[in-house]
Amino acid sequence: MNEALSRAESLIRTIPDYPEAGVLFRDITPLLADAAALRTVIHALVEPFAGEFHVVAGVEARGFLLAGAVAMDAGAGLVPIRKAGKLPRPAASVDYALEYGTATIEAHDDIRDGMRVLLVDDVLATGGTLVAAHALVERLGGTVVGTAVLMELEALGGRTLVGDVHAVFTA
Ligand code: AMP
Repeated sequence: MNEALSRAESLIRTIPDYPEAGVLFRDITPLLADAAALRTVIHALVEPFAGEFHVVAGVEARGFLLAGAVAMDAGAGLVPIRKAGKLPRPAASVDYALEYGTATIEAHDDIRDGMRVLLVDDVLATGGTLVAAHALVERLGGTVVGTAVLMELEALGGRTLVGDVHAVFTA
C-alpha cells in the first residue's frame, strides 16, 4: 500500500462497543474531513472500474458520502439506495435479514434496463446489505459491474455472500 493510502487508513477511527456492546465501529468521518485522504480513497475506489459504469449506486447512509464523490470522479451519475419509506416513488424494493429482524431498501427507476452500475458502501461486514443492493439493481434491470467498499471486515465473512468485492482497506 502506498504512503497516501496508509495515511488515509490511519484516519479511520475504531470505536469499541458502538452502537452496541461487542461491535468495533469503523468511523470514517476523520478520513472524510481530510481533503488529501478523501481524494486518495475516492480514486482508489474507482480505479478498477474506471470507464465501466454509467451510475454509482450508494447505500444509505454512509455509502452516500462516498458515492457522490465517486460519481464526480468517474464522470458517472448517482442513484441513492434508501431505507424503506424515504423515497417518494420507489420502483423496486428488497427485504433482507438483520441480526434481529429485517430491513428493506428501495430505489427509483433511474436505474433502467442495460444500465451499468457500480455499488458503493463504506463498510462490508456480514454482506447482507450489499447482497440486497445487488438484487435491487438487478430487479430494476441494471447490471452490477462491481462492488466497492472502503473497508472490508474480513472476520465477518461478507465476501462469501457478496462475491467479488473491491475493498480499499481490510481489517
Ligand atoms: P452488513 O450488511 O452486515 O455487511 O453491514 C454493512 C452495513 O452496516 C454498512 O452499510 C455499514 O455502514 C454498516 N456497518 C456494519 N458493521 C459496521 C462497523 N463495524 N463499522 C461501521 N459500519 C458498519
